Amino acid sequence: MPNHQGSYVPRSYVPRSAIGPFALCSISSANRNTSLPIPNVTSSKLNHTRYRMRQSQSQGNGLYSTIDIKKGKLILKESPFLLLNLDKDGYNPPKSQYHRAFHALSPKYQAIFWGLHQRRDNGETSQTMNVINTNSIPLPDEGDGVVRSVGLFEMLLRVNHCCTPHAGWYWYEEDTEMRLYAYTDIPPNTQITVSYLSNNDLIKPSVSRRKKIFDDFGFDCQCESCSLPSDSILASDERLKECVRIRSKVLRTSITAYAREKDQALQELKRSIIFLRKEKKFNALGRIYEKMYEVYAIHGDIEKSKRWARIAFHQFKKTIGRKKAMESFLVDQMDDPRRYPLWGELAKKKKSVKRKYVEYQYQDIGHEEDDEDEDDYEDHSRLKWSKSREWDEQSWDGSD
Ligand SMILES: [Zn+2]
Repeated sequence: MPNHQGSYVPRSYVPRSAIGPFALCSISSANRNTSLPIPNVTSSKLNHTRYRMRQSQSQGNGLYSTIDIKKGKLILKESPFLLLNLDKDGYNPPKSQYHRAFHALSPKYQAIFWGLHQRRDNGETSQTMNVINTNSIPLPDEGDGVVRSVGLFEMLLRVNHCCTPHAGWYWYEEDTEMRLYAYTDIPPNTQITVSYLSNNDLIKPSVSRRKKIFDDFGFDCQCESCSLPSDSILASDERLKECVRIRSKVLRTSITAYAREKDQALQELKRSIIFLRKEKKFNALGRIYEKMYEVYAIHGDIEKSKRWARIAFHQFKKTIGRKKAMESFLVDQMDDPRRYPLWGELAKKKKSVKRKYVEYQYQDIGHEEDDEDEDDYEDHSRLKWSKSREWDEQSWDGSD
């Protein structure tokens, strides 16, 4: 259901805190292991017109593009070969249930199961449980985001992690399938990567990301953004700290309170957009675009709210697919933002305040200052942060 407070939370990755006591459940193996065997029984499935499995230089097997894959394109979709239900609160069922699920697999999938990586430093003595704990991908409930089931996937488990991922997956619960979307254009013969971290953790500075990766997945991230020269990492960390600060401020405040200081809110959100794009954290952008829409809508700016609703919608379309993006409240409101439940709420208050101000000014100095959009214009020029991207608020239609 659309919700003006942004309860529609598209996300590709579930924060581990949402996993509950399934604490050892980690997203994947791949790195990680230096030589994950590719089971012969499924060799036909491991090669596709868009991708193929091959050995990477440092991360074991990985998924590689075979053709040019454009941003926003579906790379692959896959149903789990083993779907395990947690209880309604996200707690683990008895281990016997997992063993039964494993024994119900066909010999083909049992072979795939034993080909998966096992993390053995967690005190678990059962190999079956080790494989499940190491490789299960959490599958969030579409309604409340709580993880009530986890899955094992043949292909997706081979996709390696990067802190600036090319792609991300999203669980289509009603179709029982995970879909992997390209966040960026991916040239042929490029390793396709995802983030194993939640959106919250992915935008944290390098040290925090590496610690989280090591604690949760047992490997030291040496992706391109974690391997930058130290001065570049420092600069990147500063940008990310600001993104974290803005994100947490936006998320912990009601939109009415946040948008009250309109110019400040817009400047912060635009700064966050510039930094997130520079840092290639594309999956975090949709929520910020959505907030831009809400700030303009709550101030009753019809043209700008329309534009940002469209931009947000197109971003979600690229990261979670058209079908899910169509469920966003933005779809209902981008043609007519006056459907936004808090439409013009702050504009009314501003007008009444302004009227008094104008009257006072009229009596006092005899003219009204109109500074509307002045800062927008300034931000507009600042948003042109990269000639190569040629992106700015006024001309961009979200198709980038
Ligand atoms: Zn990294």
